[in-house]
Amino acid sequence: MPKEISRRTLIELSVAGAAALAAAEAKALDRPSLPKDQKIGFAVVGLGKLAQGQIIPGLRRSKSAKLVALVSGHPDKAKRIAAAEGLPEDAIYNYEDYDRIAKDPRIQVVYIVLPNGMHAEYTIRALKAGKHVLCEKPMATSVADCEAMIAAAKKADRKLMIAYRCHYEPKNLEAMRRVRSGAIGKPRLVVTDMGRQADPNDPSDAWRLDKKLAGSGGLGDMGIYGINAARYLLNEEPIEVRAWANTDRSDPRFRTVDDMICWQFKFPSGVICNGSTSFDYNATMSYEVWGEKGRLQADPGCFYGGNHVRMVDGGKFTEIDIPEIDQFAREMDWMADVVRGKAPLVSPGEEGLQDMRLITAILESVARDGATIKTDWGYKRAVDPAAVVDVVA
Ligand code: NAD
Repeated sequence: MPKEISRRTLIELSVAGAAALAAAEAKALDRPSLPKDQKIGFAVVGLGKLAQGQIIPGLRRSKSAKLVALVSGHPDKAKRIAAAEGLPEDAIYNYEDYDRIAKDPRIQVVYIVLPNGMHAEYTIRALKAGKHVLCEKPMATSVADCEAMIAAAKKADRKLMIAYRCHYEPKNLEAMRRVRSGAIGKPRLVVTDMGRQADPNDPSDAWRLDKKLAGSGGLGDMGIYGINAARYLLNEEPIEVRAWANTDRSDPRFRTVDDMICWQFKFPSGVICNGSTSFDYNATMSYEVWGEKGRLQADPGCFYGGNHVRMVDGGKFTEIDIPEIDQFAREMDWMADVVRGKAPLVSPGEEGLQDMRLITAILESVARDGATIKTDWGYKRAVDPAAVVDVVA
């Protein structure tokens, strides 16, 4: 990038470009533009741990988005949450009458917070109902499902965003910028470790241990943060992968999914990434980038809060001190701005598909005892989060 083009200019250009494009699209399709003074209405599908603990509270704090509807298979739970959030009973849908959202003008965005194996169906139904979709990670449980979701969004001419909250979290964004700016010199090695102990007695984990609903074990649930982090820290894509698993099949948690997987990515620049994930090791969401002349350490790097990102030079640690924000509120604000045409789509379906293809390659290498799998299929992210996301919610 030429020196005289600042990041701010780049942001303004990208946002202005996206706004002009969205206005032109709306005009071409003869769609009424969204009222400027009104928050974008979100329907939340699946009222489990994340929805109740982070997403609904995030919507309460959001500047540009608001909760307008709930979709649940549990009427009592839905009624209790609707009452607490001040929603009328006609704003409650279930999985059978879900398609009626097409006729509900309160809803602009549907947020899919269901088990992974249900993401594709409920995303495609929402797109067919004419709604924009924000879908939780992992995008789905197969490459084919991810491709079908992207095709459905194109056909419906609606936005599809994957909920990669670290793309909107200030410390992760600063980490990307430090690496891009050369603060650690030329990057040489990335290490990412993302996992925890899975509890089969917790209903929230029970489906995560069932391959049909989860897709994979710790890899799709936690390891995906490491896959995504290596890619966003380096802003390049792996060209090769090798992976191995260590799973105790006598442990009832691992009847259908893998436990620990360790992988290596090779990047075009020559950087190597060592990644690990497990549903049977002490909780961690950490990453480090070693450069020629310094190291960036994030431990934890991807928690909901309390992340610590440090610059390390020899034995000297310098904390990157940035105030905490509600990552979920900010991510939903970004989605609201995308829908309004005020912001570019930073984490589109193609980002989710890329991680799903890499997960599939890792699993293929595991099945072939560490065989090298080529992953140089030419994906390049459309928008670098570090270049555009800097508006603190
Ligand atoms: P959860 O089990 O707590 O919630 C899932 C919800 O889906 C529950 O309300 C459950 O009743 C409902 N459901 C409907 N059909 C179901 C079925 N057949 N089996 C099981 N549940 C069913 O899970 P969660 O932790 O809220 O995760 C939901 C999604 O959010 C997952 O895709 C997960 O990967 C993602 N997630 C993302 C983050 C993040 O930081 N972005 C964090 C946690 C979870």
